[in-house]
Amino acid sequence: MNGIIFDLQRASFVDGPGVRTTVFFKGCNLNCLWCHNPEGINPKRALLRYPEKCSACGKCTAICPTKQSDCMLCGKCALLCPNDALELCGRIVSVDDVFAEIEKDRAYYEKSGGGVTFSGGECMLQIDFLEEILKKCKDANISTAIDTAGNVAWSHFERVMPYTDIFLYDVKCISGRLHIQGTGVSNKQIKENLIKLASQFSGKIVVRIPVIGGYNATHEEMNAIAEFLASLNISQVELLPYHKLGMHKNEAAGVSYKDFTEPPTDFLTEWKNRLNSII
Ligand code: SF4
Ligand code: SF4
Repeated sequence: MNGIIFDLQRASFVDGPGVRTTVFFKGCNLNCLWCHNPEGINPKRALLRYPEKCSACGKCTAICPTKQSDCMLCGKCALLCPNDALELCGRIVSVDDVFAEIEKDRAYYEKSGGGVTFSGGECMLQIDFLEEILKKCKDANISTAIDTAGNVAWSHFERVMPYTDIFLYDVKCISGRLHIQGTGVSNKQIKENLIKLASQFSGKIVVRIPVIGGYNATHEEMNAIAEFLASLNISQVELLPYHKLGMHKNEAAGVSYKDFTEPPTDFLTEWKNRLNSII
């Protein structure tokens, strides 16, 4: 079985415990205005252009089979461009291809308590592909994590829970109006799925909250999140402060974005402590 990914990072330390391999699935059904992986939103392969890097040398047009009139995503121009002004984003890969990469770092996972994290985009949208890789990792005794925004049918969770050790579950805000403003979609299903997951999943659930100045970095919204999480069986809460890395990719990916601000450190410290004390 094949799927589409836009990145695979080995030796990662940010998406779960220990040394990890993170696989970024392509395609997402949210459109967060602060997204720092905007190239992962479109579910299809695409040619990204960074005009600010282009020196107008003309090599891309010269090598292009269609003279850049009707791109067929061959990738020749991106390989040739001397300034990395072009990038072919998205790779069709098989379960075996991805597993072969994951398996390379097995010794590091064992030593560090790490494993593999499936992220994105939204990895749960490619549910057949995800389920098959998860099964393969579990059969090989490799620890697994899913990083999800939770906006999928509950049946998807039921399919992957038996092969998953950790869920990294994003909660952006509790206000439905604010959620639609920031992501383009309602958070009704996201909240319902987290409530069900917390009552049925026996592994670890880490709730991750992107904290964004000018959006949800208010005591009012953090209080609402605290109230929502207080009655759920959550292992840990992580705050992910807004940063501007990746913003240069929005225009290349054709994704709209807004320039938010980084939240104050004392606000982050206060809410990290408060949220972890109530769960
Ligand atoms: S090859 Fe790269 S630098 Fe040259 S014109 Fe094309 S995009 Fe610009
Ligand atoms: S990816 Fe291939 S077809 Fe598309 S613009 Fe580049 S060289 Fe042309």
